[in-house]
Amino acid sequence: MLKKFIIGVCAVFQTANCVISFQCSAAKGDINGDGFIDAVDATSVLMEYAGLSTTGQGNFTEIQNQLADVDGNNLIDAVDATGILSYYAYTSTGGTLAFEEWLSWNKAHEIQQIDGLTYIDGILIANKSYSLPETYNPEMNPETLRQFEVMQTAAANDGINIYFLDGYRSYDYQNQVYNNFVNWYGVEMADISAARAGHSEHQTGLAIDVNTDEYIFEGTPAALWIENHAHEYGFIVRYPKGKEDITGYKYEPWHIRYLGVEKAADVYNSCLTLEEYLGIDSYYH
Ligand SMILES: [Zn+2]
Repeated sequence: MLKKFIIGVCAVFQTANCVISFQCSAAKGDINGDGFIDAVDATSVLMEYAGLSTTGQGNFTEIQNQLADVDGNNLIDAVDATGILSYYAYTSTGGTLAFEEWLSWNKAHEIQQIDGLTYIDGILIANKSYSLPETYNPEMNPETLRQFEVMQTAAANDGINIYFLDGYRSYDYQNQVYNNFVNWYGVEMADISAARAGHSEHQTGLAIDVNTDEYIFEGTPAALWIENHAHEYGFIVRYPKGKEDITGYKYEPWHIRYLGVEKAADVYNSCLTLEEYLGIDSYYH
C-alpha cells in the first residue's frame, strides 16, 4: 500500500519526489538516489561487481540490486555499469529519452563503435549526428560497384540510362565540396545540400550519385526507375522527399546508398528513412 502510494506520488510530482524514493521505477540506474544517472552510479555498480567477484559479498540493498541490474539478467556486473555510463553520455549530449525507454531502444538496435565508426544493426552510419574519422579512407566499396553495374544493366534492359556520376569522396575533398557550397549559398543552404567533412555518406564508399546531382533529375524516367527498383539491387534512395527534417537533407533522387539486397528491401518496404528505420537522428550536435 505504501509503495503504491509512493509510485502514485512519483507519477504526479515527477522527479522532485522520485529522487528520494528508491521505490519509484523511474529511478532505475540511479543507485545513490540523487536524481541523476551518472558516473557516480556506474562506479558504485563497478565496485559492487568487484566485491561480488572477489569476496562473493556485496553491499547493495535489495532495492539497489534492482536499480543496478539495468539489463535485467539478475547479475550486477560491468555490463550494467557500462549501460549506466552510456546513458549518462547520451543525456550529457542532449538525449531526452527516459532511461527505461533508452534501454529498450538500445536493446532493439545493436550499436557498435569500431575505430571511430558507428555501426547500427551492422549498418555503417554517416549523417549529421554520426561522423567518420578524418583518416577513414576506404575508397569505393567493390561490392557496391558490382551491384551498381548489375543495376545499370537491368535499367538498360528497360531502356533507362543510369550512369555513375560520383561515389567515394575523401574527407579533404568533402571539405572542399562543403566550403564551396558555403561560399556560394551560405551556411544554412549549404547544410541541407552538402555534408560537412566527416559527415558525408560519400566518404563511406557506399554511396553513389547517379546521372546528375541537379534537381532537374527529379521526375525523369531514370529517377522513377531508381525509386522503384534500386532496392532490388541493394540500394536505397537515401534522402527521400518530405523527410528533410529527419534525414537533415533536401530530397536527392540521385543519391543512393548501398545496404545489400536484404536490408535495402526491408528499408524500402518499411517506407521509412534509414534514420527512422534505425531509430536515430541526424543533426549537428
Ligand atoms: Zn550524394
